[in-house]
Amino acid sequence: MAVLPIVLWPDARLSMRCAEVAEITEEIGRLAADMLDTMYAAPGRGLAAPQVGALQRVFVMDVTWKDGPRSPLVCINPDILWMSDERATGPEGCLSIPGITAEVSRARAIRLRWTGLDGVTREEDMTGFAAICAQHEFDHLDGIVTLRRLSPEARARAEAEYRA
Ligand code: ZN
Repeated sequence: MAVLPIVLWPDARLSMRCAEVAEITEEIGRLAADMLDTMYAAPGRGLAAPQVGALQRVFVMDVTWKDGPRSPLVCINPDILWMSDERATGPEGCLSIPGITAEVSRARAIRLRWTGLDGVTREEDMTGFAAICAQHEFDHLDGIVTLRRLSPEARARAEAEYRA
């Protein structure tokens, strides 16, 4: 297991659509373990594979570890099956865009389906920070960073701040 370097915006890999994982191999297991190590070391609460340069549909998250025991989640080929109409806007950071927080509007609740490292496909309804975090990481798999969820004006401000 290893802490990997994090790909920083505007690296082109953060704007690419990632490929489905065809088979859960040892390599995928190692990638997920390294991603968790990298996320905890950063420290962060979510990390998507393209953020460590792997263009595959995998993300990891742990929304509780900063306040209690670790509860790592490895999501392979995730799918958002449902999103609430009700939305919430809050500040989001991204390990690939250090120093910047963006006010992003997200669905307040979602139903997420994913396959775990054990090959079992699960579904869970998520609300609050877990729902926000999952949507943020899911976006990364489609090459979407927080900046792309902002109005043109807000995005220009954030990009200028990032480059400064
Ligand atoms: Zn991010």
